[in-house]
Amino acid sequence: MNRLEFIKAGFAIVGLSQLQPDKSMNTDPHLLIGKGNPRLVGKNYALLPEVDKAFQQMSASALKQGITIKVVSSYRSFEKQKNIWNNKFLRFKSQGMDDEAAIDKIIEYSTLPGTSRHHWGTDIDIIDAGPPEEGDVLLPQKFHDNGPYNTLRQWMETHAKDYGFLLPYNRDENRTGFKYEPWHYSYAPKSIPMLNQYLELNHRELILSSDLNGADGLDKEFLESYIKTHVMGIEPSLL
Ligand SMILES: [Zn+2]
Repeated sequence: MNRLEFIKAGFAIVGLSQLQPDKSMNTDPHLLIGKGNPRLVGKNYALLPEVDKAFQQMSASALKQGITIKVVSSYRSFEKQKNIWNNKFLRFKSQGMDDEAAIDKIIEYSTLPGTSRHHWGTDIDIIDAGPPEEGDVLLPQKFHDNGPYNTLRQWMETHAKDYGFLLPYNRDENRTGFKYEPWHYSYAPKSIPMLNQYLELNHRELILSSDLNGADGLDKEFLESYIKTHVMGIEPSLL
């Protein structure tokens, strides 16, 4: 079994008859992997009500400084993440990469389905609605120097934490996993407990996946290392 087959099989396991809700958890485990049916609110986005409330307060405050925060990504289901993953995989393969190289390339910015913080309804990708949008908006350079979202970044770096929003994929060079994402903010009061529950869940997944036919040690190592470097490779105050 190659790495991709292992990943597919690993997440098939999670899907989800074997995934028993743990009574010690506050959140239904299905919600933590994007397969639940959470109550979400928002006009042009979808967030947990508590997160939306804090977001609206932050937006109102930013607006007073002439910054219109626009959410370009919020809640994302397992299926949606799977589409992103599959499309990128095909694209990188068509560029001549082998399976392993394609996966390594995908996980520079995108998560394995079932492991995205966007599954939780607590995380947002934002831009400034003021400047005209040209091409791909989520590029780090657009948030720095003379980029269109430099003012937004500076405002968020100063004020977002007052509303509970932190940057998981910060600029710390010693951080592992996903690259710097100046656009991705997480509502800490909800996402911290959800991550803690999520990590419990993954330990169980790893135990289950050891029963897979053909899953060799190397592939298990990949998944374990991915959880450590990518899922946990975030701003320390969000752990
Ligand atoms: Zn994001």
